[in-house]
Amino acid sequence: MSHIGIDVGGTKCHGVRVDQNGVILEEVRYPTPPVAELISLLGSMFEELGASSTLGIGVPGLITADGIVKASPNMPGAYNVPVGPALREQFGISVHVENDATMAAYAEWQVGAARGARNAVMVTLGTGIGGGIVMGGELHRGANGFAGEIGHMVVQRDGIDCVCGRRGCWERYASGSALRTLSGGMSGEEVFAAAATGDAHALSVVHEFADWVAVGLASLTNICDPEVIVIGGGVVQSFATVMDEVQTSFVAALYSAEWRAHPRLAVADLGERAGAIGSALIAGRA
Ligand SMILES: [Zn+2]
Repeated sequence: MSHIGIDVGGTKCHGVRVDQNGVILEEVRYPTPPVAELISLLGSMFEELGASSTLGIGVPGLITADGIVKASPNMPGAYNVPVGPALREQFGISVHVENDATMAAYAEWQVGAARGARNAVMVTLGTGIGGGIVMGGELHRGANGFAGEIGHMVVQRDGIDCVCGRRGCWERYASGSALRTLSGGMSGEEVFAAAATGDAHALSVVHEFADWVAVGLASLTNICDPEVIVIGGGVVQSFATVMDEVQTSFVAALYSAEWRAHPRLAVADLGERAGAIGSALIAGRA
């Protein structure tokens, strides 16, 4: 029995067919099209990946339980897009659509770095910051399926403008694109490479970035009390270089650090494939 999952990213759509254990059997990638062509691309990717009675799709933003994309701030014009209903009608199969970071969290929880935990938070640091929450051995979706939008928790009132239309959101300070802002125009890779050579400017950027990441992780710990926080997303390839600093700042930012168990900070196991794997598994097991 195999399952198909597709992760809709800001720049590419990544589709996989996996077995019951999340092992990838087939994989395809296409550039993310304009929103008007999204549903037809998803349909043709499903056909290309072969027969399956289920399809899971992870999309950034606010997704209803029925699979309608209500709003996706990084995808221009994506409001009320009926991804789930349209594909269900086209193929007559079960289609499960959820927030992309929730899908990634599910994969890391089932077959990755948070395996075995009953309480976990997944944080994806990419263009923005996504989140998925496991509470008491279940995915936490909230009343409308909109829970886990941790990138848009405000860490600085009247701070930097955010794509969501508000200001001071955490993802403006602690994501991959935030590294560009903090460094004055360098990419995350450039910042980490320069820091590795001892460049003073890059080191101070990395230090500030680690502090911003840690502040958010400490707030998430106050809210969720997780056993483990899994850190994934595009920034994570270079994350080993900042993990020690994040860990130190995180402990310093924790509420009553000396009186509590500290959540383990873990780098994601599944890398950029987590969203697609989680989409496939969640649809197959629903
Ligand atoms: Zn925001």
